[in-house]
Amino acid sequence: MKTKIIRRKIKIAAEIIKKGGLVAFPTETVYGLGADALNRNAVKKIFEVKRRPLDNPLIAHVSSIDGVHEIAEVNKIAERLIEAFFPGPLTLVMKKKRIVPKETTANLNTIAVRMPDHKIALKLIELSETPIAAPSANLAGKPSPTKFEHVLELKGKIDAIIVGRTNIGLESTVVDTTVYPVKILRPGAITPEMLKEFVDVEIHKGKESKPKSPGMKYKHYSPDAELYVFVGEGVKKKIKEFANSLIEKGFKVGLAVSNAREYEEFEFVEELGSDLNDVAKNLFSALINLDKQNVDYIIAEGVESEGIGITIMNRLEKASGGNVYRI
Ligand code: AMP
Ligand code: MG
Repeated sequence: MKTKIIRRKIKIAAEIIKKGGLVAFPTETVYGLGADALNRNAVKKIFEVKRRPLDNPLIAHVSSIDGVHEIAEVNKIAERLIEAFFPGPLTLVMKKKRIVPKETTANLNTIAVRMPDHKIALKLIELSETPIAAPSANLAGKPSPTKFEHVLELKGKIDAIIVGRTNIGLESTVVDTTVYPVKILRPGAITPEMLKEFVDVEIHKGKESKPKSPGMKYKHYSPDAELYVFVGEGVKKKIKEFANSLIEKGFKVGLAVSNAREYEEFEFVEELGSDLNDVAKNLFSALINLDKQNVDYIIAEGVESEGIGITIMNRLEKASGGNVYRI
């Protein structure tokens, strides 16, 4: 399949969506792989291309509040959160309407809905005249794409890629509004503190036998290299020691650290920045870049668990399969 690279003509991309095709497009969180959320055959293709497990439901993206009501039953609580945070990096799980095929929601009677705060994404949805189901535009389990170049790995497998930029660099916060207090199923850029100004909130720990957010049980965000994360006061010394011990054994080691200049003696270093928003923006890109250089190990500097730092650490925890060490 020839993949069209689209720079400005969003209308062409919308025509592809209308015909049941797949389009990768930027949002303010990460790049999404979109298809008509109401077209079961189109949605099936997303699962095929991503090799996504079929029981992991998709988020439907809308371009207006009316769009939310077309596919979901909006209760008072959801309404309050929509008013406060839409458009933005917040996904609400609500009871689904019949119009939504079971393929989109992986057989659940609920649907996750988000209105992205991104010009290109909103335009694409609007011109497509349908909600767009869109998980991240990467192979399932891998770090999420935050740049156009990252999505090129899907070239030949999807119909089009729209050129653009993301902003936050981490996926949306997912909140279940069918229960009260509402439950955070996945942390994101909208923090519990922000939500608590409007509703009572509980953080889902995911220990039940049947996970509430099916996607959270899978290995996620993981680079091919084995990832280790260190966080705390003496982190620089610890990272250097560990990296050197691996290099001595003949391994190729990549580092993802706040300040690259402090690690000049190492060959494969990606800078995350020290501001938490910068770390969020740079994290997935750093993992992807290091993988491209075929390192065996990646050692990353963690951050304090506050604000968006909670989300950064959630992704690092999952990406490393729990290899997080506080020192
Ligand atoms: P992704 O599209 O890969 O960013 O992941 C979307 C996340 O939202 C996954 O963790 C899904 O399991 C979760 N999700 C999507 N739809 C629902 C739903 N109806 N109920 C609960 N979680 C959902
Ligand atoms: Mg994803």
